[in-house]
Amino acid sequence: MANDHLHLPNLGDSTGTLISPAQEKALGDAFFRNIRSQLDISYDSDIQHYIQAIGQKLVASSDNPRQDFYFFVVMSDDINAFAGPGGFIGINSGLIINSDSESELASVIAHEIAHVTQRHIYRSYEAASKLSLPAAAAMIAAIIVATQAPDVGIGALSAIQAGSLQMQIDFTRDNEQEADRIGIKTLARAHFDPRSMPAFFEKLQQASRYYGAGAPEFLRTHPITASRIADTRGRAEKYPYRQVPNSQSYRLIKTKLRISSAQNSIKDLITFFQRKINQGTPEQRAAMQYGLGLCYLQQRKYPQAADIFLTLSQRYPNQREYLTALTDVAINRRDFTAAKKLLLQLQQKFPHESDFQFEYINILLTANQPQQALQHLKLLEYTQQQYPRYFLLLAQAYGDLGQKVNSHRYMAEYYYAIGHTSGAIMQIKLAQQAKGLNFYLSAILEDRLQFFMDELQALKQLQAQ
Ligand SMILES: [Zn+2]
Repeated sequence: MANDHLHLPNLGDSTGTLISPAQEKALGDAFFRNIRSQLDISYDSDIQHYIQAIGQKLVASSDNPRQDFYFFVVMSDDINAFAGPGGFIGINSGLIINSDSESELASVIAHEIAHVTQRHIYRSYEAASKLSLPAAAAMIAAIIVATQAPDVGIGALSAIQAGSLQMQIDFTRDNEQEADRIGIKTLARAHFDPRSMPAFFEKLQQASRYYGAGAPEFLRTHPITASRIADTRGRAEKYPYRQVPNSQSYRLIKTKLRISSAQNSIKDLITFFQRKINQGTPEQRAAMQYGLGLCYLQQRKYPQAADIFLTLSQRYPNQREYLTALTDVAINRRDFTAAKKLLLQLQQKFPHESDFQFEYINILLTANQPQQALQHLKLLEYTQQQYPRYFLLLAQAYGDLGQKVNSHRYMAEYYYAIGHTSGAIMQIKLAQQAKGLNFYLSAILEDRLQFFMDELQALKQLQAQ
């Protein structure tokens, strides 16, 4: 853990030779903890699964397929996407909703991937150079949050940093051109339509002319000019024209996100889906039915919702979203027997995805079976990005079993994973006061307390500047 408190080298060096892979990974993890505490990240398993799948498909066709990347969706209506250290790429729900095809969405992701593989992002982080790692991660997160939600971000930054630090959040014209050029190659290799990149950028640019101050956030950090669009179009048109169909998951995820956006009323959406339910291909019609089902679910019309999802899941047994929606209906109805059965079915169909096991454990806890939940948790294999949820379930299971020391101990890990280090410290202190503390646990708690305190101390470096 000593690595965490190393001071970083000059991050403005675009060759990136000064930061080691281990430092970059630690910086990325710390950055993501900060982002978790400040932005509304989607934990929906369908959404997470989709964005990971399309992102990794593009990475595999990028100029550095071996680099680690992690993709996530930020629930925000602003049209934006951003890249952080360690290959963390955030895509706003607003960008997905406003894309007209999957290739358009892919073109922005491919562009962001190129900024990472070409190490352009480090130039924007120059201001974070020479800081301790936790402080640098907090600062980079604050810079990104500032572009995301201008008011909130600047507030968060001034709260941790009183002095004046120069922030460079926009990429240079050369960086943009390079990211377009490499992004287009990636798109073509991944079998998306390269022409969708200039088409989407042009739409964004037109939107900015139309909306003025309400222009897409993406343009603040990735300035789009007419010459850049022309240049990108020239490159894209060298590829033979081909029709690239949208995947069904793209349609379903876009539908799901539209429903969770505050901009649409459920009533209007129902009218929309009902009007379109008999139009287009069978897949397009299925997506409209799915949307209608989700609206019914929100309105707690469970039998109508279940009917739709059951029919769809029988017609398309390999489309996971229909089965997960059916499971959601069962959970909302508190029919845990049916929910467990469906989740076991999902686990069999998709054995490599631990999300369904997480959901299963969640149901065991809701159904007041903490001992069984704990047994499952101990066998569970989870990814680093699933840490927060894992620790939360563990804390809950121990809490339900009346084991307060362990409950607070894992609650501390949960808080740390979501970027609330002071909350983590409080939980450790509660654990230290709880009954049932033995020598072994006492030593673990002391060790973690010291680690969290050191990290808070390192963050104070920002205030001192
Ligand atoms: Zn860019």
